[in-house]
Amino acid sequence: MGMTIPTRYGGLGASFLDTIVAVEEIAKACTLSARIVVEANMGGISAVMAYGTERQKTFVAPYVLAGDKPAICITEPNAGSAATQMATTARRVEGGYVINGVKHWITGGGISKLHLVFAQVLDDAGDNIGIGGFIVCNDPENGLTPEGFSVTGRERTMGLCGMPEASLQFDDVFVADEFVLRPPSGFKRGFAELMNAYNSQRVGAGAIAMGVAAGALEHATRYLLERHQFGRPIAEFQGLQWMLADMDASVHASRLMLHEAAQSRGADGAGFPDVTLAARAKLFASEAAIKVVNDALQMFGARGYGADEPLERMYRDVRMFTIGGGTAQVLRTQVASSVLGIKTPQTRGGYL
Ligand SMILES: Cc1cc2nc3c(=O)[nH]c(=O)nc-3n(C[C@H](O)[C@H](O)[C@H](O)COP(=O)(O)OP(=O)(O)OC[C@H]3O[C@@H](n4cnc5c(N)ncnc54)[C@H](O)[C@@H]3O)c2cc1C
Repeated sequence: MGMTIPTRYGGLGASFLDTIVAVEEIAKACTLSARIVVEANMGGISAVMAYGTERQKTFVAPYVLAGDKPAICITEPNAGSAATQMATTARRVEGGYVINGVKHWITGGGISKLHLVFAQVLDDAGDNIGIGGFIVCNDPENGLTPEGFSVTGRERTMGLCGMPEASLQFDDVFVADEFVLRPPSGFKRGFAELMNAYNSQRVGAGAIAMGVAAGALEHATRYLLERHQFGRPIAEFQGLQWMLADMDASVHASRLMLHEAAQSRGADGAGFPDVTLAARAKLFASEAAIKVVNDALQMFGARGYGADEPLERMYRDVRMFTIGGGTAQVLRTQVASSVLGIKTPQTRGGYL
């Protein structure tokens, strides 16, 4: 937890690359634990560490280092891939902003204490001046219970069980000025800059998928040598050897792309991974992982389908990574627009 938090705030001061190396190893055994590590190192926490004030950094770091997994609150019922069309607003009032809106599919909603809430910022006159991030802390044990904040539902999921995916409601939730995360170029470019921070979480998500695939590959390799059919280890059948070679190549290619993205520096100057390298790596790793885990399950025969082996759990878990944190289609759009050197219109009316 908090590996990437600088040492002066109590963290290890580790790099994104250090973190995803750890994430891979954890994801081999437990997808959910790896997600917690990603979200306690990349995304919301790294946005605060890069763009936050001294007050914000010293406030959030102890929470994460004590085990809190910050929740990042972007998605809404009517704004998924089209995130900039979010309806949640932050209206200017004396001393801060008042948040109104609904977020859903928020990982850790209801158990996380720290929340980074994205909202359309309205100035004194009620005009929209961009998108900002607002730190909301729900910590009843320490007397912090934001009035108007409630957890209104929990999704039922096919995998990644053990951590809530929740709906959150904000009814006139007051956020004082000191907890407004101001993007460096102001609210007008706020979404782009906050999403630069999200690129690190994207690389983390790809690393989880790759780690699950690497774990499945290890299981399958062991089983191929153990299991005998037709009087010999099934590892001797070329049909399975070629599957195994493809699985190994996919995991290796994913790892190299993720490491490249983790070490890259985007144009923002804040040290976040390059947007296209992050999109490409997450796209490739998430799709490759689904195939690798599926092939590993196949190699186990009936045992692979059974719930006593971890493969069926890995299969359900890994399916998520082409959806959450930017779908495969949206990431392809990012990669294509970079290859073509053009901006791609996303709405009937043109650009978002
Ligand atoms: C397990 C899980 C955890 C999540 N955790 C969080 C979280 O912590 N915080 C948070 O804010 N969000 C979270 N999300 C939400 C996630 O980021 C969104 O699901 C994702 O952005 C897609 O939005 P959507 O589900 O509304 O799909 P939609 O945007 O409605 O997309 C539906 C389909 O249309 C496709 N599509 C949409 N636009 C285009 C386009 N321009 N071109 C081509 N195809 C397109 C999509 O790829 C998809 O196949 C989580 C989701 C999951 C599943």
